[in-house]
Amino acid sequence: MARLILRRHREGRILAGHPWVYRSEVAELVGPHRPDEAVTVLDWEGTFLGRGFYNPRAQIVCRLLTRQDEPIDPAFFRRRLEAAWAYRRQLGLDGDATRAVFSEADRLPGLIVDRYGEYAVLACLTRGMERQVEVLAEAVEAVLGVRGVYRRADPAAARIEGLEGASGWVRGSGAREVEIREGPLRFTVDLEAGQKTGFYLDQRENREAVAARAAGREVLDAFCYTGAFACWALAKGARAALAADTSADALARARRHAEANGLWDRLEVEAANAFDLLRGLERDGRRFDLVILDPPPFTRRKSALESAVRGYKEINLRAFRCLRPGGLLATFSCSHHVSPALFEEVVQSAGADAGVTARLLAALTQARDHPVLLTVPETRYLKGLLLEVIE
Ligand code: SAH
Repeated sequence: MARLILRRHREGRILAGHPWVYRSEVAELVGPHRPDEAVTVLDWEGTFLGRGFYNPRAQIVCRLLTRQDEPIDPAFFRRRLEAAWAYRRQLGLDGDATRAVFSEADRLPGLIVDRYGEYAVLACLTRGMERQVEVLAEAVEAVLGVRGVYRRADPAAARIEGLEGASGWVRGSGAREVEIREGPLRFTVDLEAGQKTGFYLDQRENREAVAARAAGREVLDAFCYTGAFACWALAKGARAALAADTSADALARARRHAEANGLWDRLEVEAANAFDLLRGLERDGRRFDLVILDPPPFTRRKSALESAVRGYKEINLRAFRCLRPGGLLATFSCSHHVSPALFEEVVQSAGADAGVTARLLAALTQARDHPVLLTVPETRYLKGLLLEVIE
């Protein structure tokens, strides 16, 4: 087995509990290396730190899979999957769709697994995981008891890591469209063409929390994807909802979701850029009692933070202006680089510019099936604020 030796005094982050090794921290790789075999990571003095896959092409050349002196083999992956699935089972979620593996947070860095009803979708974000795709899919099938495992290629990871695999069934097979249940609602997931792995499971608990206050309200869901927030709000008694997104595919599905759940008569959908839409609504004097802002990450890079902050400021400012007195704003950021403190600061300044007094009803975060690892801040990415405009 090859040994990856760190430069002198570069083991600090790993000893503090973070699993990544950057290329700049490596002194040398000793011994014959096969890409589908884990390497042993050692500090400069030769102390064992752990094992992980090595990919010289990526900036993060290695992500530790274990800190024990144990083989990285099919039995290892099976144990990790069983632990991840046991955690989800005890959450007692009401529904049949859940994130089963959340990469670093489940000590399987580079692997995402979402369970959608009787099927699972798997995404490999590192080359090491990609080389194990058959082993992983077999373990997923056995541990989750699903009828098929679909692999979704991730274009961003493919670029960074040099991945080659395409999307498709790795184990079993099924239809392209899968039905899932989330609380009282039924949704469908397009395994092949949906965004990410098909559905934003990380917002499940927030959909429920926001919908719990939606009764009687007129709702704007400005980045609606397939309409999950809007459907939840309507199911819990919202008077009407306008759901908007730039993706025509997503909107078509939002419409079908409303139909399937008997909510169609109260939903209006509009293909629109939220920035333009909010500006137009504000200008036309159209007002709402609940606005939901769940935009895509405005930045994946630290360097673009400033423009991301401008984006958050603008949509939140306009959303505040479109709210009736007593209205609610549920606003989110899923960009890891925007800290909860920074996000709150931006929303606060948007509220001040809009001239409103807002009360914080709840600080929201990612669903519990997307756990946070204390020593890996990157695992915490979704934050939200539920606010009530009191004046
Ligand atoms: N709230 C949704 C998930 C939203 S994901 C849910 O619970 O399922 C973010 C969505 O914003 C995506 O569907 C994307 O197509 C859309 N989007 C991206 N840029 C946009 C823009 N400028 N205006 C409106 N929608 C946008």
